Amino acid sequence: MDTYSTPLGKIGITVIGHASLLIEWDGRHIYSDPYAEAGDFSGRAKADLILITHNHYDHYDEKAFSCIATPDTAFVVSRDTGRVDGRYTVLENGGSWNYDGVTIYAVPAYNVNRRNGEGNLFHPKGDGNGYILDFAGFRLYIAGDTEPIPEMRDITGIDVAFLPKNLPFTMTDEEFAEAANIIRPKYLYPIHYFELDAAKLSGMLDEGITMMTNHK
Ligand code: ZN
Ligand code: ZN
Repeated sequence: MDTYSTPLGKIGITVIGHASLLIEWDGRHIYSDPYAEAGDFSGRAKADLILITHNHYDHYDEKAFSCIATPDTAFVVSRDTGRVDGRYTVLENGGSWNYDGVTIYAVPAYNVNRRNGEGNLFHPKGDGNGYILDFAGFRLYIAGDTEPIPEMRDITGIDVAFLPKNLPFTMTDEEFAEAANIIRPKYLYPIHYFELDAAKLSGMLDEGITMMTNHK
């Protein structure tokens, strides 16, 4: 677990695997895109809050929910996930939600170029979310499945970012670095990858961005 100090107290970050994250804050457990294939959730703490970026099987996984969700678990989900299950708090791109002082903003996450065999974008604009979690000025950015997009220019003041990297669904190494250099987080976690050349990627980042890869 990596720990960071915020105006709202310490937070702990664990990259469980693939896009699955655990954020510990104030005795609470916030999961993002828990995916049972990416790690063992059976021994994990119960979730106070689960964030879902979109409804693909590697982000929306009932098997993981069965381990960590309780009747008291809050869910914040994307529009496409909301279509699957109406119980959840749905945030459209541009929406926000207050979680006991932590503001959660939903931001766009989508493909510009990457399409499936039928010619449809894997991630159409508006279906899925990235999330910014703002701990009174200390800001985490969970990108979701996305390519570099113009809206990233409006994502500023990020302390810790989680960016995806893999083909054909998200970004190449070059696009990953491009997105990172637009957002300019202090700390950058690559997620959602099949392979990772950490030394190569680090060399492509602007000064001031520290890549965090010790979780793998
Ligand atoms: Zn996806
Ligand atoms: Zn994915």
